[in-house]
Amino acid sequence: MHCPFCSHTDTKVIDSRLIAEGSQTRRRRECPDCGERFTTFESAELLMPKIIKSRDDMREPFNEQKLREGLYRALEKRPVGEEEVETLIEDIKKDIRSYGEREVRSRLIGEVIMKRLRRLDEVAFIRFASVYRRFEDITEFSEEVEKLTKD
Ligand SMILES: [Zn+2]
Repeated sequence: MHCPFCSHTDTKVIDSRLIAEGSQTRRRRECPDCGERFTTFESAELLMPKIIKSRDDMREPFNEQKLREGLYRALEKRPVGEEEVETLIEDIKKDIRSYGEREVRSRLIGEVIMKRLRRLDEVAFIRFASVYRRFEDITEFSEEVEKLTKD
């Protein structure tokens, strides 16, 4: 693959290993020309269902990058590493695909994300929930937080 820094036409793989329980390959590459190093992730592209937005019933494609950004925001300054986040994303995608539907409601996606995130990091779960979940009212959210502190 070309170097993203100097566009040199070839880069050398200096490390390669399986992550996310074997569903991804992480490669460290080095450009023989400018010496810059970078990481690539490789995974099989499996078809994800379309997302039905709750507000207007519009369909949109599943956006993995958007999910990744949201998770990183929720996990800011938390003791969770890059590999754990990638595993989390693979697990979330697996859960969503397991419904076997061509279209799924965005609310369901939110539930899947929160279930997985909660197991990984409770602080991140609360942050994520406070932003993404459309709580009917504030008591519902408070109950959720209360449940967490009791656990
Ligand atoms: Zn280069």
